[in-house]
This record gives sequence, structure tokens and C-alpha cells, in this order.
Amino acid sequence: MGILPVTLYGDKILRKKAKKIEKIDNPVIKLIGDMFETMRNADGMGLAANQVGSDSSLFIIDLSLVKGYEKLKPMVFINPKIIGQSEEESLVEEGCLSIPDIRAKIKRPEAIKIVYNDPELKEHTLEADKLLARVIQHEYDHLQGIFFTDRLDDETLKRYKKSLLKIKNRKIEIDYPVTPKNVY
Ligand code: ZN
Repeated sequence: MGILPVTLYGDKILRKKAKKIEKIDNPVIKLIGDMFETMRNADGMGLAANQVGSDSSLFIIDLSLVKGYEKLKPMVFINPKIIGQSEEESLVEEGCLSIPDIRAKIKRPEAIKIVYNDPELKEHTLEADKLLARVIQHEYDHLQGIFFTDRLDDETLKRYKKSLLKIKNRKIEIDYPVTPKNVY
């Protein structure tokens, strides 16, 4: 296992739609292990495969360091599909390992229903709310090529333009390994 470099805003793979995983082979198992290591090293709560340069439809979540979620086991979502959402929405601040140092309040449904496969490709249906629903939606967005900043209105987004450009050009300090510019 190893820590992989995290792709950053501007990397093309973060704009691509993820591809379905048809079988679980050794490379997929290794990818999942590496993603957990990469996420923990960067103190993240969730990580999508394209954030480490893979186009597989896969994300992971670990909230066990968050107060109130200690008992929630780390989760692997393969080929996920959100099939329902609450009408009720909430406005919560988000951050992203691929957009370091930028945080913004994003409006999302408070609860969701998702179907996904586990690492044995067994299908599960999960209803989630609050923080778990929030992180799931954020990571699910990554698999569609969407950043949380895409959900900001134009006025607000304008304020982040300069910072986003800095990230794209690697003109910031980041305390975890990231991809070199123009590779992914
Ligand atoms: Zn993210």
C-alpha cells in the first residue's frame, strides 16, 4: 500500500465521468487500500478515485474521527447511484482535498438514498442524513466530474477565482503529496 498524489482543481480527470467497475481484481483492491492511506494522510473524510488519478466509479468515506461518528466503520462505495433525496436542504461548509484551503457553504439535500456495491460487488441500499449524506453527495459529485465550487452562484464563485487559479498552477503550499501540473 502507499500514499498516492492527490489530483488538484484543473486536472482533467476530475472533470471526467467515472467508469463502472465490472470486476474486483487485484488492482482495484490495491487502489482501495491506497485511497484509504492517501485520505488518512491528508486528514480527509472522503475521497473519490479520480482524486488519485483513477477513472473507476468508486469513493471511500471514513468519519470515525468525527465526534458522534466514532462507531461508523470506514465505507467503500463502488458503482454508486443516488436514487432519492429529501426535499429538505441544508447549508453546510465544505472543503475538498483537490481544492485545498478553499471552504464554502453549499446547499444540498439533508438526506439521500443510495445504492452501491461493496468490495465483493454485493449490492446495498443505504439511507443517510446529516454529515454522512453530505460527504456521500460531495464524493458522488466527484464521480460525475463536479466540484463543490460548481454549486456556488456566479457572484460567490468570482471571489474564489484567483485562489482556484493558484491551485491549478500549484502556487500554494499543501502538506500532502499532489500531482504535478498538467499530468492528469
Ligand atoms: Zn472533494
